[in-house]
Amino acid sequence: MPIQLLDNRLISQIAAGEVVERPASIIKELVENSLDAGASRIGVDVEEGGLRRILIEDDGCGVPADQLSLAVARHATSKIDSLDALEAVSSLGFRGEALASIASVAELTLTSRVAGADRAYAISPHIDSQPRPAAGAPGTRVEVRELFARIPARRKFLRAPATEFKHIRHAFNQLALSRFDVGFTLRHGGVESAALAACSNDDNRKQRAAHVLGREFDDHAVAVDESAAGMRLTGWIATPGFSRGQADRQYSFVNGRPIRDKVFNHAVRLAYRDLLHNQRHPAYVLYLTLDPRQVDVNAHPAKAEVRFRQSRLVHDFVFRSVSRALAAVEARPHEARTV
Ligand code: ADP
Ligand code: MG
Repeated sequence: MPIQLLDNRLISQIAAGEVVERPASIIKELVENSLDAGASRIGVDVEEGGLRRILIEDDGCGVPADQLSLAVARHATSKIDSLDALEAVSSLGFRGEALASIASVAELTLTSRVAGADRAYAISPHIDSQPRPAAGAPGTRVEVRELFARIPARRKFLRAPATEFKHIRHAFNQLALSRFDVGFTLRHGGVESAALAACSNDDNRKQRAAHVLGREFDDHAVAVDESAAGMRLTGWIATPGFSRGQADRQYSFVNGRPIRDKVFNHAVRLAYRDLLHNQRHPAYVLYLTLDPRQVDVNAHPAKAEVRFRQSRLVHDFVFRSVSRALAAVEARPHEARTV
């Protein structure tokens, strides 16, 4: 075959492979968009583990009608406009790829209404490229149907709805723990699975964490708040007694962004080293904040991984902070040291 340029749709479908792995990745991208839009309430409603339908609704700033077709175009974003802006980026999105990627592998409808507009407008790129008037309250609604319907090779990799919903639940939990000031609801097949009101104080925040990590977490959680070298670590770690057979109760955030990071996880594990058997995993919800220029958030297409400029420094700081919090618990007479 001679060399030829790929058409735009195929380029998007290939790129979508990096961003849209499964329904949970769609939830993550769309809720991040709602958070970037300043929403105070976000609803996530899925059917059949998101395979049949995903609906995200927010009360954020909305997209003006004349920008709807740009919103679903590739490499179109309102969040950065230069390399400088990328290096200091504080929004969750910046690649301008999510909506276009999702639209290339599913049927997407974006309905939005900005404050002050007398109506909403909707665009469905698989049907037409022009927005049409629609019903809707101020804010944005994104509906995604028929994920991978026309891409059997990808559809094959999806699991049963119950498994896909587990992944959705995890993504939802991460997002809910990343913004306590926002209210979140999750529904699956019409049944409410979580309703988290916006939190106004530390008690509410701890309750939300306990809702996500399980009731007993509330009794075993130890607050962490340590600062050094321009970094701060806050959140909760569970006493060793609340350890798990699986590493499924570990939530880490860097500058408000849910991440998984080997350096970070290793540092926490190391702090628990003498308190937990090898097969047990600590439970924690930890927030690291540091100068945004010390961390590269553009290291991964789904932005789930970050790269620290000085990973040794981060590792030592997290290790020392968690060790100190654990030592304080050990010193408490009523906390039995359980393995
Ligand atoms: P990115 O988030 O990287 O900018 P997306 O493809 O996710 O790229 O979104 C493209 C643009 O559409 C965003 O930059 C934003 O201007 C707009 N947008 C998407 N979702 C929303 C939303 N829920 N509320 C308001 N604007 C949105
Ligand atoms: Mg986005």
